[in-house]
Amino acid sequence: MSNAIRIRASSWSGLFDCAYKWEGQNLLGMRMPSSPRALLGTAIHAGTATFDLAKLNGKMASVDEAANDFINALHHPEYEVDWRADDSINKRSAEVIGLTLTSDYCNTISPRYEFAAVELEITPFNIDCGDGVIIQLTGTLDRCRIRKDNGGLGISDVKTGSVAVEPDASGKGRTAKTKGHAAQLGTYEILAEASLQQLITEPAEIIGMKTKGKPEIATGLIYNPRLVMLGNEDAPGLIEHAAVMLKSGLFPPNPSSWVCSQKYCPRWNSCIYKTN
Ligand code: SF4
Repeated sequence: MSNAIRIRASSWSGLFDCAYKWEGQNLLGMRMPSSPRALLGTAIHAGTATFDLAKLNGKMASVDEAANDFINALHHPEYEVDWRADDSINKRSAEVIGLTLTSDYCNTISPRYEFAAVELEITPFNIDCGDGVIIQLTGTLDRCRIRKDNGGLGISDVKTGSVAVEPDASGKGRTAKTKGHAAQLGTYEILAEASLQQLITEPAEIIGMKTKGKPEIATGLIYNPRLVMLGNEDAPGLIEHAAVMLKSGLFPPNPSSWVCSQKYCPRWNSCIYKTN
């Protein structure tokens, strides 16, 4: 399989946001320092994963251990972080927000669940695009849990961010922001089924953690997200669209993307499609 293109599963959904940016990051090796809020998200995930992995392995899950791992990940990132990129947050306020969310998650959210897997390492998954082009999805389902519901297994994905929680449809309650996440969760469903050799039958779920303003956690459901990836008789799925891009080598830019900014895109300086 000499011409297999290896892609981290967690990067896959970015292909359907700005494909030109995705090509820069994943095929051309363009990098930029991470933002403080991205690091905060990574650190929260490290802490909450410690807690849930202990539960999964039948051990006594400890909020203190989760908090310690959060602090360690915040202060010792494995990559470069530009704290000057966001003047709305500093290390001290990141600690306060992250510790609040980590302990809230451990004390009130995690106890609602029984997990079948936490941050599952996937069996490499090949997508044959035709004409000898094969995409191989690898890595772990970062930030993702496989939960056991009464009806079967479902994906729960933890998302952090400034607007990860929003008003619900009634305007009276709060829900996790689900818009824009179907491609990633659909991919995770397909990969989890292939790795676990079990069907994922329950709706996908976002566990949203808001990291700006008052810290908040809320959940929201996405029904049948894999439809977006696989398509149906009326419309091709995103996998088919991806195959066309990878075979042709043409990756369309998306200057309307919310990540189209100097802050988030490593291709910004050379990109002729951006709108200032
Ligand atoms: S600058 Fe905007 S359009 Fe260009 S690659 Fe980056 S996100 Fe895409």
